[in-house]
Amino acid sequence: MTERLFFEDAYCREFSAMVTGRTRVGKSPGVILDRTAFYPTSGGQPNDLGTLNGVPVLDVVEGEGGEIVHLLAAEIEGSSVTGIIDWPRRFDHMQQHSGQHILSQCFERALNAATASFHLGLDFSTIDVSLAAFTEEKATDIETMANAIVFENRGIKAYFVDEARLPSLPLRKPPKVAGAIRIVEVDGFDFSPCGGTHCRAAGEIGLIKVRKWERRGDMFRIDFLCGNRALEDYRWKNSILNSLAAALSVKDRELGETVSRLLAEGRESQRQLGYLKEKLLDYEAAELDSQAPSLGGTRVVRQVFAERPSEEIRRLALRLTARPGRIALLGLTGEKAQLVFARSSDVSADMAELLRGSFAALEGRGGGTSSLAQGGGPRGDRLEAALDLAQAALAQALGAQR
Ligand SMILES: [Zn+2]
Repeated sequence: MTERLFFEDAYCREFSAMVTGRTRVGKSPGVILDRTAFYPTSGGQPNDLGTLNGVPVLDVVEGEGGEIVHLLAAEIEGSSVTGIIDWPRRFDHMQQHSGQHILSQCFERALNAATASFHLGLDFSTIDVSLAAFTEEKATDIETMANAIVFENRGIKAYFVDEARLPSLPLRKPPKVAGAIRIVEVDGFDFSPCGGTHCRAAGEIGLIKVRKWERRGDMFRIDFLCGNRALEDYRWKNSILNSLAAALSVKDRELGETVSRLLAEGRESQRQLGYLKEKLLDYEAAELDSQAPSLGGTRVVRQVFAERPSEEIRRLALRLTARPGRIALLGLTGEKAQLVFARSSDVSADMAELLRGSFAALEGRGGGTSSLAQGGGPRGDRLEAALDLAQAALAQALGAQR
């Protein structure tokens, strides 16, 4: 079993040790030492990084026999090593982990809600707490309580106690291991069995901030930040707020109201734009209709449009054929060629059949009913030829009816 220097002193950043074993995991060589300050991934806290004799430590894992394995970027020679911990990373973990103890105790005290699990992530940390409901107001209460402990700068200490003494301690959760139990105490506030690394005083944790939460079955997953992470989060959010407030010429506290108003205005503009587009289609249809030649008593509108939404062309075709005695043969050029054929209900020509005849030119596909058919193909260069085919077939059909 490796002696864990971080149990006694979480602030030990440099140490010397003897190599007691060597192993290999995948491609990485691994060494086991008689003592280490490297924390192995466990209890929700990620492993430390750093170097052994200058060689980067890639991962630190706990073996089944309680030995700690350091996986290295390269083999190291000799039996004695000097280890250096990546301190900013470790201290960040200490801030998040210590903050978690306080936050979990606040959930216990304020809402009688137990913490089921803790995850210290790369960007933010989470705890899952047993809760039926959670609100902004409750989050504020919890934060206030947690930060009061930070501002009181309560001491945080770790000590081992015998199992026999455990019942005398107000433990937040039962220990997961037997024998002598390591207790981490936030002075008089929280007593937890824990093997992790913690700050020596609550003031070192810095701000504890609940970011957001989401329901997970009968739990709530609480997303929080402590210390430098909270500062960094405040920094980028403040920067966004400042630039938005400047762009909109309002105070930062007025942004919520301003954005809501802008969104409402945007929706109203969209509604008005939709109305005006429909109006415009009415005028366009009337103008096309007035200029259309008559073929055997039926007015035939033939027109090719460029770069317009096909749905708009369809609606135009429906408008054109709303009055009796009309046929619309519309084409649309763009990424691919499209055709929309429509007729008034009193005209007997079959639009689906007409479309099928024209598709040969477009190498396209489509379909529809005898009164409205549409489709498209890749040969935009043959759109006029396709419409010529349709018009010729139509002249024949309408002529035969007479
Ligand atoms: Zn802990």
